Amino acid sequence: GRRWPLPGPKRASQRSPAGPVRVVDGVSFDIPPATTVGLIGESGSGKTMTANAIIGLLPAGAGTAGALRWRGEDLLPAGAARRRRLRGREIAMIFQDPLAALNPTQRIGRQVGEILRRAGRPRAEVRRRVLELLDRVGIPEPERRAGDYPHEFSGGMRQRAMIALALAGSPALLLADEPTTALDVTVQARILRLLRSIQQDEGLAMLLVSHDLRVVAHVAHQVVVMYAGRVAERGPTPAVLSRPAHPYTRALVDSVPAVRTRTALAHPLPGTPATPARRPPGCAFHPRCPLARDRCRTEQPQARQVAPGRWSACHFAEEVSHA
Ligand code: SF4
Repeated sequence: GRRWPLPGPKRASQRSPAGPVRVVDGVSFDIPPATTVGLIGESGSGKTMTANAIIGLLPAGAGTAGALRWRGEDLLPAGAARRRRLRGREIAMIFQDPLAALNPTQRIGRQVGEILRRAGRPRAEVRRRVLELLDRVGIPEPERRAGDYPHEFSGGMRQRAMIALALAGSPALLLADEPTTALDVTVQARILRLLRSIQQDEGLAMLLVSHDLRVVAHVAHQVVVMYAGRVAERGPTPAVLSRPAHPYTRALVDSVPAVRTRTALAHPLPGTPATPARRPPGCAFHPRCPLARDRCRTEQPQARQVAPGRWSACHFAEEVSHA
């Protein structure tokens, strides 16, 4: 058989091409209601940029020719003002670092309460709802902990508090950007379980951005695999992970035995990833791809449907699972 995982890229491919860098390029996918979409890729793959594009934080000129549809509306041409409005209401975010979202000088309960008030909850209801939310996200003794400041919480508890803040606005779409990366493994698993149960109970749509395939495998119904600012592959998570239709996905899966066995430890993916600033011509993955041939070095593959609901941007997608 062929050699998976990946060899490193050749040096020549690391030179920066001239001209402006398109950080995310033609990225298109849907986030259906009541569904978790996992966005996966190595650092520099454009996954965080894509999440930022949704909430209007994408720097000028980094643009994309793609589409991010939410409730039938393409968010990219929607304009920054519209996205900001959505961000306050329909869309909530949770980050890797809860301290970026929490106000250090305000008690946790008060912060959650303020969002509820802004969302138009009657005053009389706010206190009860704050305690309900803290309880829902697994903060013990909500009555007492509501009076604590963020620094009095552990890392895991802060993450829970941030999730309570996000839920307080009753969003329909939750963007979670590496929500568990800073946590130790046990706490990480608990937070992921919490996110999954909240997503299901509330019927939320969730976009989960992660570099960790195990996190995505655990939580996401659909997966979007990004490489160098483009979508390499997307489809239902079990199908993508068991029969990848892109050599990059295949290498990712093979580099994390725990995805299959849940026992072995993860090995980092070998080789340096291409980034949007150092994107090789043709297929950006070709310097690391065991299936690469001449066509791959010159012709950029377009995403195409390779099975119902499965999309791959590989010229030779059909060969991946047989290699
Ligand atoms: Fe590999 Fe070619 Fe497919 Fe790119 S297009 S992933 S280089 S086989």
